[in-house]
Amino acid sequence: MNEIGADSTGVKGSVAVLAGKLEEGLRRGGDLFEGPGVAGLLLLVPKEDLDALASQRTPKLAVKGKGAVIIAALNEAGEADRFLYQSGGGGSARWAQVQGMRQEGLTEAVRALVHVQRSEQVVGEVAGVDESIPLRSITRAAVVGAGTMGSGIAICYANVGIPVLLQDASREALEAGMARIRGVYDEAARKGRISGEEREARLARIVPVTGYEGFADVGIVTEAVFEGMALKKQIFGELDQVCREGTILASNTSTLSIDEIAGATRRPGDVIGHHYFSPAHVMRLLEVVEGAATQPDVLATSLALGRRLGKLGVVVGNGYGFVGNRMLHQYGREAQLLLEEGALPQQIDRVLTGFGMAMGPFAVGDLAGLDVGWRIRRENAHLRKPGERYPVVADRLCEQGRFGQKTGAGWYRYDESRRAIPDPEVEALIEAVSAEQGIERRVIPDEEILARTQYALINEGARLLGEGIARRASDIDLVYLNGYGYPAWRGGPMRYAESVGLARILETIWEWEAREGERWRPAPLLVELVARQSGSFAEGEGGR
Ligand code: NAD
Repeated sequence: MNEIGADSTGVKGSVAVLAGKLEEGLRRGGDLFEGPGVAGLLLLVPKEDLDALASQRTPKLAVKGKGAVIIAALNEAGEADRFLYQSGGGGSARWAQVQGMRQEGLTEAVRALVHVQRSEQVVGEVAGVDESIPLRSITRAAVVGAGTMGSGIAICYANVGIPVLLQDASREALEAGMARIRGVYDEAARKGRISGEEREARLARIVPVTGYEGFADVGIVTEAVFEGMALKKQIFGELDQVCREGTILASNTSTLSIDEIAGATRRPGDVIGHHYFSPAHVMRLLEVVEGAATQPDVLATSLALGRRLGKLGVVVGNGYGFVGNRMLHQYGREAQLLLEEGALPQQIDRVLTGFGMAMGPFAVGDLAGLDVGWRIRRENAHLRKPGERYPVVADRLCEQGRFGQKTGAGWYRYDESRRAIPDPEVEALIEAVSAEQGIERRVIPDEEILARTQYALINEGARLLGEGIARRASDIDLVYLNGYGYPAWRGGPMRYAESVGLARILETIWEWEAREGERWRPAPLLVELVARQSGSFAEGEGGR
């Protein structure tokens, strides 16, 4: 075993780089983790050792102690085209496909994984919430709205042994919700993930109801009805009547103000946002939205409950789209504007999956359904600023009934096995839109696609941090890693920004602002940090 060296992660602890046989490397790496000072490990192994790991269905990286690990094999040119990685918190190892990554890049990826591990260690530390706060007891729960989200949330509770009432105003919706839940459990049993007995036990914990019977006995209600303020207020007013004192009233709203919802009750201190991600029983992220009146014990209980449900709770402030969706909006818009300038969906998706995203933005849009955003855009049309560039291709697709996978066509066409196929009709539509807008199409380099989509995320993230909606840069990273398929080995968008260099990013954003105007106005915090010659977003925390 050849110890190539160790270099600083820039936080605390260093990355040890070992070259040699896999088994020996794992053993030696484990010893290093047991001692002080080493937080991450890069193991460079012979190709056949990596191939052997690739043949395992769920490769186990049996390293003692907890640290971030990357295992790679370098070719004669000193480059890796894939690696196996595991962030320090344990969990299973995953593969990353890369293009000719050199040892420096791999070491940087280990540092990013160390950052993820550290971010998870501090995410639960929230001002005003400490261990002395007695938690509210939650032995029973209820969910209002048995749609996509409500049924998934009910599964989360049932999976950890908490009985849950699932309520819907519509009997058909309730039946459809219960059928969806049964489908999830049937599949889990079929795949051998749970026993038949366990399936029955979990199903039995979910009790469908059409009224508020039993709501007086629950410790928490999570509302997941249609996204509309009037409806949410009505539901919270009713919950205020039927729930006992001390019941936590949570909303799964994606965009609406928790404070306004809380205002519909006589107990705004008990109201909080629990923003799950779809599918709720699969996605690990839970944005915990703190309202102006939310009591510290409601926040503390929500974080503890999140852990119990197997979620990663990230506390965020109340503001349109909270953290994740507000950033996503900028990212998605930039991707669509790139189309009008000369790119195609398949090029943008390829660049972003090449970067490591689980899916590209257009494939995600087709999966989620393009009609959802279309409806919201039509409702909010009056809010559009004059002179602002508005991408129109998505609306045109929807006007043609192309809503994505559910209609067999969206940004792509889909065959029976749901494979995305680039569609010449979409290409023609995009070209027609460019012509209409008077935009001369040009070849857009991959680097520009990456920079524009990432800097859109980063700039909005810096804004959120400056406004105090996000508490920490590392919280933003965790939101993106756990809710949006951002690659863990890049550390998250804010960490990625630091690896590119904040000054370099700001310089580029300024150029774009000069060309494009307000859309690229840099976040004040980014300007401030660069002026202070700070390379770290952590130095800009505590905005509120
Ligand atoms: P959905 O349309 O699938 O389900 C909404 C359900 O609410 C329907 O079953 C409907 O019958 C029920 N409902 C309507 N009025 C009701 C009432 N008065 N009482 C009881 N039930 C009523 O919607 P969804 O996608 O599950 O979204 C629900 C909420 O979750 C929304 O606020 C949405 O913004 C939010 N959300 C959605 C996603 C997502 O990806 N779909 C992700 C995060 C958050």
